[in-house]
Amino acid sequence: MNKMEIRFDAVSQNEAFARLAVSGFLLYKNPGINDMEDIKMAVSEAVTNSIIHGYDGEGTVRIYCEIDKNSFMVTVEDFGKGIENIELARKPLYTSRPEEERSGMGFTIMEAFMDKLLVTSEKDKGTKITMYKELK
Ligand code: ATP
Ligand code: MG
Repeated sequence: MNKMEIRFDAVSQNEAFARLAVSGFLLYKNPGINDMEDIKMAVSEAVTNSIIHGYDGEGTVRIYCEIDKNSFMVTVEDFGKGIENIELARKPLYTSRPEEERSGMGFTIMEAFMDKLLVTSEKDKGTKITMYKELK
């Protein structure tokens, strides 16, 4: 088992850092380009959500990853507003911010690109996204 954890400010400048940190952690497993792209995409969506939707003002995003043999797990967590209706939020094309040209496809992308997606969230406590992928 190999694990890593990072915390960073919930600002858009850190989206690229988050994506690269996770892919850098995975590199020694020599994942296929497809797995790598899928994971980067899913992590980006989760991190962007924490930054855009998680907080009104300042906040922190935490990423935790585990690699166990060929199983990869990543959690992306914020300590912000939370999601009131998780079932609704996960529906394709649902967005609470249609005026900002969001397409409401973040959760759908995470679900499609990873093997499994778990969402836990509590109002005013925050949101935790857990995703799994078997590396090929
Ligand atoms: P897109 O990802 O296509 O730009 P989006 O972010 O609105 O649009 P999703 O990523 O699918 O779409 O998220 C759906 C909705 O779930 C968001 O509009 C938001 O209301 C809610 N949501 C998602 N992540 C969080 C979070 N970390 N904190 C609070 N609300 C969230
Ligand atoms: Mg989104």
